[in-house]
Amino acid sequence: MTTSFDAVIVGSGFGGSIPALRLAQAGKKVLVLEQGRVYTETDFKQTWDLKYLSNIMNITTSDDYAVFFRSGMVLGGGSVVFSGLMNRSPSETFQFVDYNGYKVWPDAVSRQVLDPYYDRVEQMMSVRQATWEEVSKTGGMFAQLMNNAGLTCDRARFPYINCRECGFCEAGCIYGVKQSLMKNYIPQAQDAGVEFRTGCRAMQIMPSAAGYTVQYTGPDDTLTSVQGTVVIIAAGAIYSPELLLRSKQYLPSLSDQVGKNFNNNGGLRFGIELPDGLPSIECYKGRDSAAVMTYAYWHDYGITIEAGTSPAAIFAIDIHRPGESGWGLDFKHWAKSVYPSKLIVANIMGPVTGEGLVYLNNDIPAVSFPLTKTLADYRDRVIAPIQALTKANNAILLQTMGTGYMYSIDHMLGTCRIGDDPRYSPADPYGQIRNYPGLFVSDSSSLPCSTGVNPSTTVAANAERIADYIVTNW
Ligand SMILES: Cc1cc2nc3c(=O)[nH]c(=O)nc-3n(C[C@H](O)[C@H](O)[C@H](O)COP(=O)(O)OP(=O)(O)OC[C@H]3O[C@@H](n4cnc5c(N)ncnc54)[C@H](O)[C@@H]3O)c2cc1C
Repeated sequence: MTTSFDAVIVGSGFGGSIPALRLAQAGKKVLVLEQGRVYTETDFKQTWDLKYLSNIMNITTSDDYAVFFRSGMVLGGGSVVFSGLMNRSPSETFQFVDYNGYKVWPDAVSRQVLDPYYDRVEQMMSVRQATWEEVSKTGGMFAQLMNNAGLTCDRARFPYINCRECGFCEAGCIYGVKQSLMKNYIPQAQDAGVEFRTGCRAMQIMPSAAGYTVQYTGPDDTLTSVQGTVVIIAAGAIYSPELLLRSKQYLPSLSDQVGKNFNNNGGLRFGIELPDGLPSIECYKGRDSAAVMTYAYWHDYGITIEAGTSPAAIFAIDIHRPGESGWGLDFKHWAKSVYPSKLIVANIMGPVTGEGLVYLNNDIPAVSFPLTKTLADYRDRVIAPIQALTKANNAILLQTMGTGYMYSIDHMLGTCRIGDDPRYSPADPYGQIRNYPGLFVSDSSSLPCSTGVNPSTTVAANAERIADYIVTNW
């Protein structure tokens, strides 16, 4: 087995597979290590059974068990299990200044700079705006509620070709309709000579004469070492800092910012109970994202909202009326009265200061994500227009568990962020880890802040940008 490569990449999601293809196209010898297995259309199941899901996702909680986080854990990473919503970040996102007065995005990154990279990603993944025929009844109803309040809502963008609207995007698409990285970047990278080793978990990274040594455990649990002139870490916002922190003894000049600045893309989940007299929306049907998104609150509140469909299993653990219990007989009667005809779930996203932390607890990654005053203020500020929206429609705003409106669980960002100021960013604007030339981050951990919308397109465009830099400079 080959042990020396021009580039070793850890993780095969958006941040990993995209540079893999671009570096191979530039003639580099590339290895990708992916801890998950290969899952294709014939392996996926249409179920929300946690036993099945835990084969294809990493599911973990915050250290106080208040919030849980999901991320992809298969070849193709999150692209295989995501709901597919791929809108570009609004330009203002890149100007965000946090509560410390720090402009978190480096000056080298703006919407204008990313646009050609967004173009590449959209072309590669066949991303296009959904038609109204592809919007579920839930999405249509959400758009109607917005319209009733004099506000706009439009169809979102997806990498789907001939979607059957079966409602199991996040369990893996059995029809092979979702254009995950398994349909484009990964096969093209394989054709260009990239070696993907699956079931291989990177354990630590250490400097070597040729660049860096990466040690990983393979499917048979043996420890193997490979060399890379360049090493790119793209294991996601919880697991990229895990790897760096575990390697700290070999990388003593690592910034103390690694693992800090964790944020959840400003995600807040809420529900709407529709008034009587409307047609049933069959809220479990259609794409997992209800295919609509509103920017109507962007100017005044700095948020966007996507509506989603709601499988019964998720509904039962997540949503209840304010002031009422989320379990027990009364809850059961109420749930039967609203599900699936009268329930919309939705997710708010917007720039927030990253105050969470990923750290190692007995060598296992842990996430601290408390409801700080800043987050509570953000929650109370951005839920206000939703209260007005539900009131205007004679609907009821439903709370989720935990913090009232539970923090979103799928959009983790910021733990190895790029930036202009070395004091606040472990990586330079091109993803290179400070003090370690040739060691890069190119995934969601490198994005310094919320993307204002679902993050994957921006993770992907930024990975294209970082790949360009590496091809030109290494
Ligand atoms: C259920 C769900 C729905 C989502 N829906 C949307 C959506 O509609 N739109 C959107 O924009 N975003 C969505 N997201 C978020 C999106 O998937 C992520 O933002 C995106 O995948 C992040 O890309 P990444 O490259 O940083 O990490 P990932 O795509 O998570 O890839 C990281 C990869 O690294 C691997 N890995 C981790 N540690 C190691 C290690 N030590 N060694 C080897 N391999 C390792 C993992 O197994 C994984 O495959 C969703 C996420 C989930 C979980």
